[in-house]
Amino acid sequence: MKNYFKNLYKKIMNLLFPNDLKCMFCNKDIANAKEKPFCEECESKAPFNVGQRCRICDMDMSGESEVCDFCKNYHKHFDRSFSAMRYEKSPKSLVIKLKNNNAKYLAPKMAQLMFERIKNENIKFDIIIPVPLSAKSLKKRKYNQSKLLAEELSKLTLIEVNNSCLAKIKETKHQKNLNFNDRKTNLIGAFKVIDKKPLINRNVLLVDDVMTTGATANECSKTLKKYANNVFVVTFARNPLKNLEN
Ligand SMILES: [Zn+2]
Ligand SMILES: [Zn+2]
Repeated sequence: MKNYFKNLYKKIMNLLFPNDLKCMFCNKDIANAKEKPFCEECESKAPFNVGQRCRICDMDMSGESEVCDFCKNYHKHFDRSFSAMRYEKSPKSLVIKLKNNNAKYLAPKMAQLMFERIKNENIKFDIIIPVPLSAKSLKKRKYNQSKLLAEELSKLTLIEVNNSCLAKIKETKHQKNLNFNDRKTNLIGAFKVIDKKPLINRNVLLVDDVMTTGATANECSKTLKKYANNVFVVTFARNPLKNLEN
């Protein structure tokens, strides 16, 4: 009888909140998605970004140093960056779903993991800014997935989100389709601060869905830092294999 009511409750909840009681990775039913949005099996095998990490780029590393060799040699415009997951397997498919398949219901769960990643880090920020899309991309895609994540992070941190002070003013090519030199020039001048007032003397949390080459986060940070103090970057997933390009 107890199971009957439990199942009935689950069914009703599923009708009311269809995706809230599903594991974000495998879609299996779970008991309490508010605490952890994934099942036990996925918890044990999903590629979380854990272990010793570079303090700046969040890359896996070993040894005594806090900063990887790459970050020692090449200056990054952001102060620190954090990613909840590795950009492979199930996290990769979630990023693609959120971006291309209108799967907006994933945003709260993905943001929950991003929040878990940063909540014990000693960073102070007073404004949250999503990486913007160009007007043309926004028109084509209808929504900015990074803005959805930023709004969810705002609910969790109680820090305001600002979607209007940073804009993408240049249409750029996909970084992955370019050679090394073109990647370097592709993003130059792509972003612009439209309203500097919210940035002056403030620390920014810059939000993006994924960090692949790091060039976007770097260029946004460079633009924001004309006015802002520190810029911290948080993404849902990060390329685990590559050093970030400069
Ligand atoms: Zn699962
Ligand atoms: Zn590094």
